[in-house]
Amino acid sequence: MDIFDYLLSLYYGFVFASVISFANVFTSRCKKAFYEKSRKNISNKWKYILSGRSKCDHCNSSITFIYLIPVFGYLFSLRKCTKCKQNISISYFIEETIAFMYGFVFFYITKKYNVHYHILTIFMIFYFFICYFISSIDFTYFLIPTEAIFSIFILSIMEYFLIDNKIQFILWISIPITWFALLHLINYFMPGKLGLADIHLIFALCLATAFPGSLFLPTIASFIAIIYFFIRYRKEQWNTARLTKIPFGLFLCIAFILLKLIPSSYIF
Ligand SMILES: [Zn+2]
Repeated sequence: MDIFDYLLSLYYGFVFASVISFANVFTSRCKKAFYEKSRKNISNKWKYILSGRSKCDHCNSSITFIYLIPVFGYLFSLRKCTKCKQNISISYFIEETIAFMYGFVFFYITKKYNVHYHILTIFMIFYFFICYFISSIDFTYFLIPTEAIFSIFILSIMEYFLIDNKIQFILWISIPITWFALLHLINYFMPGKLGLADIHLIFALCLATAFPGSLFLPTIASFIAIIYFFIRYRKEQWNTARLTKIPFGLFLCIAFILLKLIPSSYIF
């Protein structure tokens, strides 16, 4: 690794942070256009979602270009909207910083272990965007849009066939099919535990993780779900926790994003 590789890693860090910043606006506008009560007042949904700059959560005025720069925009603005002086939520800053670090680390690791590092990083940018979208929608409404699952499915096929990797076709395809069949069987005998959308998402994400990461994806997602419930609910609240729905799509996406960092999934 030389100085040029560090600069490229920094560059990709910024790309990831910008993509998350865009994903945030895209997702909250999709919620308003398709899921919230306000959807009835929005006639041209895609025009509403894709046009116009980011707006302040409080006064709805467009945000000046310089404050839209990921990570730094939040610091430049001194955490306040320049027009209405209300505080800007720190969650934007946290999301962008995590995305920045992820982009940096992902490129750095991929560059070391795979010759197709640029194209793999570009695929990861798309996965990252879709995973953010799925996580946010699933967390709020407990549903996973089919279009998002299908996008991951198509991307995983493109990634497998575009990149001359050493994962055998049979290994790549058999693990997701095994999970798919196994989870449908569990769903048949114990209905209501896992949604069909969850099973379809597991299938698509396992294809995208590729062997050997696909072996561990649902297990790691379950561990993250357990940790989440352990932190969120204390002992005396376990009865309420048992009744709550689980945004399993969110935990699957986190597990997928973490597994993609492990270079062994490219080395095989
Ligand atoms: Zn404002």
